[in-house]
Amino acid sequence: MSTRIWMKWAALAAAGCMALTGGEGKWTPQQVLELDPAWLKKEGLALPVSRLWDPRRGTGLLAAAVNIGGCSAGFVSASGLILTNHHCLFGVLQEHSRPQRDLITNGFLARTREEELPSKTTRVTVPRKFTDVTKQVEAAAPAGGDDLARNKAMDAKQKALVAECEKTAGARCRVAAFDGGLQYVLIESFELSDIRLVYAPPRAIGEYGGEIDNWMWPRHTGDFAMARAYKDGQPYVPEFYFPIARDGVKTGDFVMVLGYPGRTVRALTADEMADQRDYFYSPRATVYGEWIRLMEEATKDSPAGQIAVAATLKSLNNAAKNGQGQLAGLKRGRTIEKQKAHEDLVMTWAAGRPEFAAAVEAKRDLDRRAAARRKMAMRDFLYQAIQNGPLALKQATTLVRLASERVKPDMERDTDYMERELPRLRDRMEREQKSFYRPADEAVFTDWMTRFRAQNATCSDNFVVKTAYEQTRVTDLQERLKMFGESTEQLRARHDPMLELAFRLEPELRAFQTATKTHDGAVARLRPAWRKAVIAQAGKPVAPDANSTLRVSFAHVKGYAPRDGVIYTPQTTLAGMLEKHTGEEPFAVPPAVLNAAARMDASKMPLNFLADADTTGGNSGSPVVNGRGELVGLNFDRVWENVANDFGYNPEVARNVNVDVRFLLWLLRDVEKAEGLLGELGAR
Ligand code: ASP
Repeated sequence: MSTRIWMKWAALAAAGCMALTGGEGKWTPQQVLELDPAWLKKEGLALPVSRLWDPRRGTGLLAAAVNIGGCSAGFVSASGLILTNHHCLFGVLQEHSRPQRDLITNGFLARTREEELPSKTTRVTVPRKFTDVTKQVEAAAPAGGDDLARNKAMDAKQKALVAECEKTAGARCRVAAFDGGLQYVLIESFELSDIRLVYAPPRAIGEYGGEIDNWMWPRHTGDFAMARAYKDGQPYVPEFYFPIARDGVKTGDFVMVLGYPGRTVRALTADEMADQRDYFYSPRATVYGEWIRLMEEATKDSPAGQIAVAATLKSLNNAAKNGQGQLAGLKRGRTIEKQKAHEDLVMTWAAGRPEFAAAVEAKRDLDRRAAARRKMAMRDFLYQAIQNGPLALKQATTLVRLASERVKPDMERDTDYMERELPRLRDRMEREQKSFYRPADEAVFTDWMTRFRAQNATCSDNFVVKTAYEQTRVTDLQERLKMFGESTEQLRARHDPMLELAFRLEPELRAFQTATKTHDGAVARLRPAWRKAVIAQAGKPVAPDANSTLRVSFAHVKGYAPRDGVIYTPQTTLAGMLEKHTGEEPFAVPPAVLNAAARMDASKMPLNFLADADTTGGNSGSPVVNGRGELVGLNFDRVWENVANDFGYNPEVARNVNVDVRFLLWLLRDVEKAEGLLGELGAR
């Protein structure tokens, strides 16, 4: 955001003449300092804003919210204890599960530090410095260069900034673009790579209600788990952590949700939004839906197969249902129509102001480009879906790409294949073996191939899936790890059918990548011009779209009306969990929980609550704190009517779903007898 625009907002805010809507806005730490302190106080913030974020040091309580493998999490003790969602640590449970020792089903509690379970791949990043690098990134773009050249030059500059930043010992850096390139910020974090599982409830609690209740309210899910971060073999001592609140929350209370929202698309034009709907969310709902069916079918008689596909199935289910929710929400909320009306308004406003002539032209250009990309959109979707689909193909295409990237100088490689990424990539390739179950993979592959052939008959005509799975060594862990270090020539010499297919696909995947980069180069030029007009016309702070960077949303505990004649209260209790109990998955409360619940008035034990926070995917595990910065809960989901808030915030239905910290403490105390942990949380 340009400083000039911000100063104007700050002035408006100070004059008290701008209204912010409810919980709308995933604010950056810098923006928090620019919001009206009187407004924040009125909302319920009891701490000075400088406690949340100290601009001099570039840190504050907000930095107790950390990123854990694409989810959010919060430090909750001085000894590196981290609280996040059960579904965010699911991979670690899977890593340590066997049919004879099924931690997914039974849960896990480390009674001593020695019993904590290390994870091969989980990493935590803690932010420590944010620097505006907009000028440097923009200056890198060659004057008069085409869009591909522009993208490459800006990309190279960002890589150089990251490399410079990572010269500091232990630093992990990235450049994040805000508002499509209106602002670029270099974010320095440090990474903790020794993360050990401390506690996870049984799946029947952590995922109570399963796919039936996912994205739904009323909810009764204990979606939380704990890990501990270690540094040099010792528990890590965080600079900030969230103490547990003594009192819980009630309707109307102020809460803040801190975390790392992944991606929203509110800054897109209405035409671009329609493309997202038709070529991203819609195929996700149908294609992933079919893959889920195929995987379930292929594993129905195999407990080992079910463990293998558990994590993949979970994320496909989540994405498919999310896709359906986006489609339903867009229709119900008429979001794209509203965006269209709003941009017409901005276009008219800008048309009368010569200084925004570039904005008007940029908006038209964005729409023209969206129309041009539509022709290839379904094929592009299938290229991207390789990452979420058949592992054999994902691995083979990755190995082929890796071999061709590794011969280039580091700074010229695709970002994912730079030296700094290779240890991660290798870990991932190793870990994915746990998720491989051939009958399921083969079924999904066959489906992908059928769809792909319908779009493109050229490169896969004589490929026989069954034979390829019989002959390939890509799916053999030891062989694959050997392939990880091999050159293109060595890979070719293997005459492995899966690699051969990947070699034939490579030129297409490269062409797709170049088209995407060219498009991105154009968008980096056009979107900022358009957004300047949108923001200036709004005359108040506008939070940028989510981009997996640290944000905070200010909200209140609040119910909502999902449809005519129905009102939802914002809190559920243990009694509701018992009411849903049928003894059949996913509504089978474990006996230990039933016994503990029988000794008390379950209607007095809060379980989940709603707030009107502005959240999205990636906010899972976000600490939810009260106005004093004390932990009252843990975000884990949104309600069905609010899934499409990725396209726009609708105060009527914008509700996020949280685990109440009181339930967590009850479970640890009355069911698990986890005295040590309770002591550490200051809640014995
Ligand atoms: N369940 C989501 C996540 O995994 C949160 C959301 O989409 O609201 O991040």
